[in-house]
Amino acid sequence: MTKLAPQHCALDYFPAHENNLTIGGISIQRLAQRVGSTPFYAYDRQLMTERVAKLRNNMPPDLKIHYALKANPMPAVVQHMASLVDGFDLASAGEMKVALDTTMPAQYISMAGPGKRKQELQQAIAAGITINIESPHELETIALLSEQSGIQARVAIRINPAFELKASGMKMGGGPKQFGIDEELLPTVLKQTKTLNLDFQGFHIYSGSQNLKADSIIDAQQQSINLALKLAEYCPTPVKKLNIGGGYGIPYFPGETPVDIQKIGDALAKPMDTYKASNPQADIIIELGRYLVGEAGLYVCQILDKKISRGQTFLVVDGGLHHFLAASGNFGQVIRKNYPVAIANKMNALETETVNIVGPLCTPLDILADRMDLPTAEIGDLVVTYQAGAYGLTASPTAFLSQPRAEEVLV
Ligand SMILES: *Cc1c(COP(=O)(O)O)cnc(C)c1O
Repeated sequence: MTKLAPQHCALDYFPAHENNLTIGGISIQRLAQRVGSTPFYAYDRQLMTERVAKLRNNMPPDLKIHYALKANPMPAVVQHMASLVDGFDLASAGEMKVALDTTMPAQYISMAGPGKRKQELQQAIAAGITINIESPHELETIALLSEQSGIQARVAIRINPAFELKASGMKMGGGPKQFGIDEELLPTVLKQTKTLNLDFQGFHIYSGSQNLKADSIIDAQQQSINLALKLAEYCPTPVKKLNIGGGYGIPYFPGETPVDIQKIGDALAKPMDTYKASNPQADIIIELGRYLVGEAGLYVCQILDKKISRGQTFLVVDGGLHHFLAASGNFGQVIRKNYPVAIANKMNALETETVNIVGPLCTPLDILADRMDLPTAEIGDLVVTYQAGAYGLTASPTAFLSQPRAEEVLV
């Protein structure tokens, strides 16, 4: 039986008023009435503001903080983030549209990702954003498109480093990878870049995601800066942007603790100074997704049925895997663990029972909670899943079983 760890920080972000969980000062029940239907996602803008402020307070003052839209591309969220961060990182032309609809200037936007289509590259060139080049072929394609359109493309080279981001939920660098150009090839690729009419911006080194170990992040950031120093002599022009990635995780499960931001910030000051001493015009950038928005969101469902099967209680809710794949345990997890869950209108109820919370889909994979101890709930009550601000709706198979879509609101 997995209990919601009582110290889980997600609980503090959404205080209970009497029995009701609140977000942005509104009870979930009232918000559900306002939205008009369940399930829905609710994101708290104030929590995002506070998170960015906390990060800035702990990082060297001249470090640039970018938001990776892939974590949550809801236009209202991206609009809000535009007022908080120094830039955006994109992974498609679709995300580029959302980003360019905000006040964020194109010069602070970059696009990464393998397999960018010609059309997408042309759009990015026309927009004037920085394209993080993922392969020698992509470099040649961009140079050709640049020449054909008469617009000099802004480019950075994404490097697949020789090192790894240790203890990461997802590794995206080190060893053979579809991301970036292998470190060993960089001298040759940079020499080629020199012969092309491109506006060279610098480097992008993204080695992994969902890391809670400050020491691993510190190590990867130090190594990223060392690598950029080593490559300086091959660069066609001085580096203007050095994106050293991110990977800062958030705690999802009992026993996980928040990443030590202060330790990371303190450790970054010296390598940053070293880099800036020989590259005074360079901006050093980190790009984060879930750390900035993941804990600011809730996924809200309503209980449709309550049944007992051979001694176990099942709460059947109106949402699940098709809206929040990650919470069901099917988004790359090896072992399924429960996300923090609560009964939103029974926050201080004393009587509890052990329940399984399942969705309406005809698959046993559609689980939101596996044998959790929660306040005794009834049909009509609202179930919230925490840590729902990142990799929620857009990271889920929403067409599966043709269920109604989930609304999203920013409060
Ligand atoms: C996925 C991704 C991110 C964001 O990852 P988080 O774990 O949400 O911080 C940032 N940059 C790149 C290149 C990515 O692929």
